[in-house]
Amino acid sequence: MQSVKKSATTVYDYAVIGSGLSGLCIANALSKVSNNVILIEAADTFGGQNRSIQSKVGPLNNGLRFLPDTELSQKAVAFLETLLATHLAPESLENPVVSFEAGGLKPFVGFGEKPPAFYDELSYFLNNRQLKLTLEPHEWTPILFNNYSGQFLPRSYVTKFQIENKKVTGVMVNGQKTIQATNFIFCGAVGDLKTLLPDDILSSRMLQKLSKNTYWTAVCLDLFHNHEVTVLPNLHVLNGTTEDELGPCLGSFLPANEINGQKIQCSQWISFVDNEESEDSEKAGAALKKIKRQIKRAYPNALENLIFERILIVPNHSGNGDLKLSANGTLPNTENLWIASPAMHQQKNILGALLQAEFILSSLGCHPLGTQVEVKSPDLPQERPTPDLDI
Ligand SMILES: Cc1cc2nc3c(=O)[nH]c(=O)nc-3n(C[C@H](O)[C@H](O)[C@H](O)COP(=O)(O)OP(=O)(O)OC[C@H]3O[C@@H](n4cnc5c(N)ncnc54)[C@H](O)[C@@H]3O)c2cc1C
Repeated sequence: MQSVKKSATTVYDYAVIGSGLSGLCIANALSKVSNNVILIEAADTFGGQNRSIQSKVGPLNNGLRFLPDTELSQKAVAFLETLLATHLAPESLENPVVSFEAGGLKPFVGFGEKPPAFYDELSYFLNNRQLKLTLEPHEWTPILFNNYSGQFLPRSYVTKFQIENKKVTGVMVNGQKTIQATNFIFCGAVGDLKTLLPDDILSSRMLQKLSKNTYWTAVCLDLFHNHEVTVLPNLHVLNGTTEDELGPCLGSFLPANEINGQKIQCSQWISFVDNEESEDSEKAGAALKKIKRQIKRAYPNALENLIFERILIVPNHSGNGDLKLSANGTLPNTENLWIASPAMHQQKNILGALLQAEFILSSLGCHPLGTQVEVKSPDLPQERPTPDLDI
């Protein structure tokens, strides 16, 4: 990875916006076919939702992670292995989901007639077979980043796309600098396109669809227990008996670690609240309290003398990217803007991030799994003067 030192008039071949898993995959592969790639990231560092978290028990995933064993997962893992240049030895493990019913843990049999409003977000996890890989998601992102040979621009929030004659010519960063490129790949949340694009780009139908969409905020809790609560690796669905609008939570216990003679076990939990309601901090607080109540119900001593707890609230965690793209993954009427959010893929989440990245790369003529083809750039002028660019 290079630090940014190009001149103010640089026109990059590719500007990748967002350095989460999808952005890192795309930037990584593109930097192998072009030495003129920039990766623009709003946060201080790369990794997005899959950044690595330093904890009492060593580096951890940024919250619960689960990969169902499906054909699409195998395809996504093969793509990832190529980019990481590492064999991840996918192993299919039986891992029946359990829930707490009638005083004990039982195989989870479904939500009956009243599925939670965020059922779509949960259904992904409710697969009784999971894929275990030799590396965890938080270990993928540093490798992808280290193997990326283009430029990285952190603390740089793209605030607007500049569009002329159906082509993006530049992006405004932090409301003050313009970065120009021939191709733009957007790897942020699809819902943000409503404000990032000039008014006349999305049709009123598209805008309506984006607005109608329900986006979910993930409410996550990592607990560090001062003893081994359970050796069960199973995914838990905990809901309790009272019916409320908060819905169930999902979670699992990681293997316990012995640190300075003390056993420490981490458990990671997730539930969802509607994005619109998540701005009401009481709603997220109530969801967190409910998670704890359910854990206590299933494991009465689990919350005693907790060593540490970590709360993570992730807006726009998911939602359907109900935005019809052109067949090549570009935004209609904007021929050099590719949309790589997993929300655009039938398979959301990590797998959607990987598979949408693979699809966009192949649309760009870049095939990490096969031969790499030089990308044909839309015919924009190669150098344009940019005032006030001092990055
Ligand atoms: C707690 C939690 C648990 C999860 N569990 C699972 C799981 O078990 N299994 C699974 O498959 N998936 C899981 N997911 C979802 C999965 O992690 C995400 O779907 C996936 O990481 C999305 O990757 P991404 O690259 O598309 O987006 P992100 O990781 O969100 O990255 C987007 C990046 O773009 C940057 N960005 C956004 N907008 C802009 C802008 N305008 N300008 C500049 N930068 C911008 C952001 O700062 C961010 O770094 C979980 C997510 C969370 C939060």
